[in-house]
Parts: sequence; C-alpha cells; structure tokens
Amino acid sequence: MNGKLFGSSGVRGLANVEVTPSLAAEIGAAVATCSKPLKVVVGRDTRTSSAMLEDAAVAGLLSGGADAWQLGIVPTPVLAFLTKRLKADAGIMITASHNPPQYNGLKIFNADGMAYAMKSQDKVEETIRKKKFKRIDWADLGESQRADENRLYAEAVCRKTKLSRKWHVVVDPGCGATYSLAPHILKGLGCRVTSLNAQADGFFPARSPEPNMESLKPLAKVVKCLGADVGVAYDGDGDRAAFIDEKGNFADFDRTLAAYAAHVAEQNAGAVIVTNVEASMSIEKMVAQHHGKVVRTRVGDVYVSEEIKKRKAVFGGEPCGAWIHPQLHYCPDGILTSALLLKTLEDEDTELSEFVVQAPVYPTIRKNVACKNTHKHRIMKQLGDSLRSAFPEHKETSDVDGVRLTLEEGWILVRASGTEPLIRLTVEGESLRTANNIMEKGTLLVKKLVKE
Ligand code: MG
Repeated sequence: MNGKLFGSSGVRGLANVEVTPSLAAEIGAAVATCSKPLKVVVGRDTRTSSAMLEDAAVAGLLSGGADAWQLGIVPTPVLAFLTKRLKADAGIMITASHNPPQYNGLKIFNADGMAYAMKSQDKVEETIRKKKFKRIDWADLGESQRADENRLYAEAVCRKTKLSRKWHVVVDPGCGATYSLAPHILKGLGCRVTSLNAQADGFFPARSPEPNMESLKPLAKVVKCLGADVGVAYDGDGDRAAFIDEKGNFADFDRTLAAYAAHVAEQNAGAVIVTNVEASMSIEKMVAQHHGKVVRTRVGDVYVSEEIKKRKAVFGGEPCGAWIHPQLHYCPDGILTSALLLKTLEDEDTELSEFVVQAPVYPTIRKNVACKNTHKHRIMKQLGDSLRSAFPEHKETSDVDGVRLTLEEGWILVRASGTEPLIRLTVEGESLRTANNIMEKGTLLVKKLVKE
C-alpha cells in the first residue's frame, strides 16, 4: 500500500491486493513487538478473505511470542469488549466494516478495549516499515487457541438493559458479523424477533454491508407488512445500527441521534454529548433543552471515543449510526444501541416514529470545488482567517477537522478530501434560503483561494 498504512479506521484496502496475508502477518508481528503483549484476542467479520487474514495475523502474533485467542466471527464491539473483559493486552479485528465485500482491513484495540490512537498506530507502522520484528526462539513461540466467550458480552448487554414490553423487532444483520448474536440477544431481552439475512455470507448477497435508506428498503417493507414495532439493521461488523420505524420508514440518522442524545441529557443533568463536525445542529437544539453541552470532534469513531473518555461524556455518536455508550465500553456498538433505543422508547412511552420527529430537521447542502492535491494544504491554511472575516457574525469556530463556523442561523464546514482533488463544503441552515446564502458566500471564497 502507498503512503500511510493506518487511517482513522485502522488498515483498510482491497483484500489480497492491498491487504494481503503478508501484511496481516506483519501487523500481527508488529503488535507482538511494540506493546510486548502476552495475550491477544483476534476476531473477524464474515468476509470471504477474513479467515485467511486472521490466520496470517495469528501467525505473526505467535512468531512474536504472543498467545492468540481466536474468537471466530464476532462483531467489532464484541471483540473490543472481550479484549478488556478477558484481560488481554491487545485485540485485533479483521474487518472492512461497511465497505463492499472485496475490501478488508485490520483494526487494533488496546487493553482497555479502545481502538489504537494515532501514536500506537504510528509505532506499529514504523515497526513494519523498518521490519524490526521481535522473532522469538522456537521454544518460546506463542500458542493459539479457539475461544467462544460471546455469552459474557450477551450477559453484559442484558444487565444494562431490561425491557418490559414484548417488542416485535425485525432484525437484519445483512449477513455480517452480528448474524447470530443480534437475534440471540434481542430474544434474550424478551423481544419477539423476526430475522432477515441472519446467516454468515461474505458475498453480502442480500444488501450492501452499509445500512442506509436505500439498502434497507427490503427491511422497511417487511416491517410494514408484518406490522412490527421496529426494524434494526447493522453494518458488516456491527458497530453501526440503523432503524426502521413502525410505519416502515427509515429513521433519519441525524434526527434519531439528536432525539436519543436529548433523552440521555435529560437523564444526566449537565451532560456532555460528543459528535463529529458533520452532524446536524439538530443535536445542539435537542440537547440544549436539557441544559446539556455538545462537543464536536473530527469525523471518525476513534476521535469521538477519545473525546468521550477525556471529557467523561455520557454519550457520543456519529450520524452514520455509530453510537458509543460509555456505560459499557468505548467502542461504537450496534447491538447495544438497539437495546438502549428500545429501552428509551419504553421509558418515554412512545413509538419510534414519534420519538424521531421530536428532533428538528434542517436543509443541508453539499458542494465540491475542484482543487489540485498540491494546493490543498495552502488553501486550508489560508481558509480559516478568510472564512472568519467573511462571516464576522460567527458564534464559534473550530479547526479540529477542516474549518467549521457556527453561525446565527446555521453552520459551514470546509474540508479537503482525503482521497480526491476536491475541497468539500457542507452547509446547514435554519431555512433553505439561509443555507443557500451561506453556501454561495463560502463557495465564492474557496474558488477565489483556489485561483490565487
Ligand atoms: Mg463498522
């Protein structure tokens, strides 16, 4: 692979082209080398390439003297939870999350069950680049063993969530890593469960591993036809959840996040809620009703998790369905999200459609301005000051991820694309007219800087 190996979601790329068994073995060996771990838990999603990469990563770990506990197919949050619960020194998850089936990747967790931060990732990356692996003498190689500890996770979720209503839930794991555990846990919570696509299949024949309005159309139909109370779907590795309401409509990500954040803020006076720079201002409006505070981070669940821990926040989430509940752990967790959302609906004595419409919805506009990759750095450097003087009325400014200005009646975010020769602008406004005005001003400014 060219450039940096690790991104905000670990290593990701085309299976057996970019993410090869040799690379997985090197990552395993580097993890064993860097943190001197004695015990590492390893899990994988249902992709066709996952077993191959798992075996390679395990070989690398053993060669570095670490013992490997192989959990088989597990959702990412279960791997993260068990890393801490089984007192492992690290965890490795083989997955490409919501990406298409031909992709795969590796994500590393520390003993606390938190995804490796940049510093730890850089250490692993440097070990691989310099090929400075610790190679253990034949007599002291690590040992591997299979382990099935899912029940520890299931028990923990059931302890955190007690439901009294018998919800009829249609669950759609999409042939991904939650295929057996999600229906099992929802049944354990007393729900009446109808399962769709609840078999492991690395070709993801039923729908894309990314749950969204388009890919969940069949689930929406089933919920409506059966008259079920709610539909829930997960991404390929089960750290994201998406919902269908009792009327068969897709529950908008931003509004569901904002409504749930408001519920959490109501339960916890003065609570801090964390989200990323792209989420709708709906979350601020909802949380403010209960005197809570919203903190925004860079896009990527790792950043949201770190901020939750740092600020002792009570909840955090991104508007793609990745929600983090620190009462159990710091990894986004789809199954726990669905259990807690049902509990919230029970507490508020409401149905999902009514719950979601409590959160306001605002017009969002996105626009791209072409910009050579070589100019991006200069433009983004100049942009902050130019944008602030173009919008002197701004209430808040942030540069955690691009430049974001909070305005009286909306906000603007300008980021350089990580992969394409583009500068991306996102605007949200109280009305479409306001959003258009903000976007027009922002676009003119960026175009002017690109020309200079
Ligand atoms: Mg995922």
